[in-house]
Amino acid sequence: MGQTMTDYPALQLFIDNQWRTTRETLPVLNPATEEEIGRLPVAGRAELDDALAAAERGFRIWSRTAPRIRAQIIMKAASLLRERGPQIAPSITMENGKPLVQASMEVIRGAEFFEWDAGEAQRLYGHIVPSMPGIRYSVIREPAGIVAGFAPWNFPLSQPARKIAGALASGCSIILKAAEETPAGAMHIARAFQDAGLPAGVLNLVFGHPAEISSYLIPQDRIRVVAFTGSTSVGIHLTEMAARSMTPVLMELGGHAPVIVCDDVDPVAAGRMSAARKARNSGQVCTSPTRFFVMERNFDAFAKAFAERARAVRMGNGLDPATEMGPVANHRRIAALDALVEDARAKGARVLAGGTRPNGPGYFFPVTVLADVPDDARVMREEPFGPLAIINPVRDLDDAITRANALPFGLAAYGFTHSAANVDRLTAGIEAGNLSINTLEASVAEVPFGGVKFSGHGREGGAEGLHHYTVVKTISHKMELDLEPTVSGAKP
Ligand code: NAD
Repeated sequence: MGQTMTDYPALQLFIDNQWRTTRETLPVLNPATEEEIGRLPVAGRAELDDALAAAERGFRIWSRTAPRIRAQIIMKAASLLRERGPQIAPSITMENGKPLVQASMEVIRGAEFFEWDAGEAQRLYGHIVPSMPGIRYSVIREPAGIVAGFAPWNFPLSQPARKIAGALASGCSIILKAAEETPAGAMHIARAFQDAGLPAGVLNLVFGHPAEISSYLIPQDRIRVVAFTGSTSVGIHLTEMAARSMTPVLMELGGHAPVIVCDDVDPVAAGRMSAARKARNSGQVCTSPTRFFVMERNFDAFAKAFAERARAVRMGNGLDPATEMGPVANHRRIAALDALVEDARAKGARVLAGGTRPNGPGYFFPVTVLADVPDDARVMREEPFGPLAIINPVRDLDDAITRANALPFGLAAYGFTHSAANVDRLTAGIEAGNLSINTLEASVAEVPFGGVKFSGHGREGGAEGLHHYTVVKTISHKMELDLEPTVSGAKP
């Protein structure tokens, strides 16, 4: 396959514009081979204290830097990422497992997040509120302060990019803990910003034991925003910790996306397209289409086409250009998927494709299709976060919407239909932060993305994305100084 360990960078922390190593390190494995590809430096208290001090200095400089200049530096870093994409992509494949073409697309997507937020940095307008003559109320947005960001392993570059883009575009500094299993993606971002001329301390990158880092950083007075993407359980834990210091949180958590397939669409084409899309990133996407609710008339044809395409997905090492789907990212996903499939099978679900993992090294799990899955199967409630799809029949649109909303999650939801009336009912009825019609794409830079219910709080991207990194300040300005000493403020 022509790739060697030399494609994977030597892993380092980035604090105050310096690359640093640590005494303690942890192994980073290639999920396709289970071989060690690098050693992760583990930040301790000393490194975190240095990062806090650096971020404080960085905030003083960056928050007073003109938005236009901030935008220029962010755009420069984004263009470096685009230029370096061909060198960056193999390291993402090596640490996460995804096919090279998806890794390359991820670099572009990361650049797009930076480019969009750089634009928004220059449009963080305040407003003036009309009131009585002689007084002016203005409302402005100011950068909140130092952000503690936590990014997961499913998108090693574009997930850190979301948090760094929002923080930096708003004028905040950030200490980002990238995922311990996929550190290289965030390192490439830090290097691009260093080369783009970002002042020291504005972006600090740490790795290590997640609970140690979050429990040290979040209670610090100097941390003014906590931004996390990951599981709902960890999100709740971090939110509780932040609440003790009244620190606002941005939480992008789990999903269990429903897909409603109406009876006015071609079930074979929709089934084939859905199966291919399920394989993206080995299903390890919080918006991954998972619960397919198909109207009875279309059910058999849809399920058959879905299963055929699922069986045809070429699974292998992501560095092989023929590979459509790599391994899952770690052994925890394998154990979780095995348990969910076993439970569903025992409760009467039909396995139409996949279900058993191949022998040999690597965390490979095939696209697995379960049909007629009873509501009491665990997979109907627990996010599989892997290449596992459920296909169940529904009577009509009301039945589908009720089932779609039955879970405590509400991140992405999808519908396939030609009917405007159906779209109207889906729009009104679906409980989710993002509803996509006739596409399985849910998250792009130019529109806000986030969840309702246990899928989280706040939005990333779009015009709304920077709001969580700013605080609103209201200025009441009386044009003439009036020193009349009345208690009520009323004129006698
Ligand atoms: P996990 O819940 O242990 O970890 C999820 C993420 O949170 C990881 O990136 C981890 O580094 C981080 N984390 C864990 N404990 C933390 C702590 N105390 N402080 C700060 N960060 C912490 O589980 P996992 O096995 O890594 O992933 C499993 C589940 O996580 C999946 O089933 C999925 O629901 C969720 N997940 C969601 C996303 C997403 O994009 N929303 C991404 C990755 C994982």
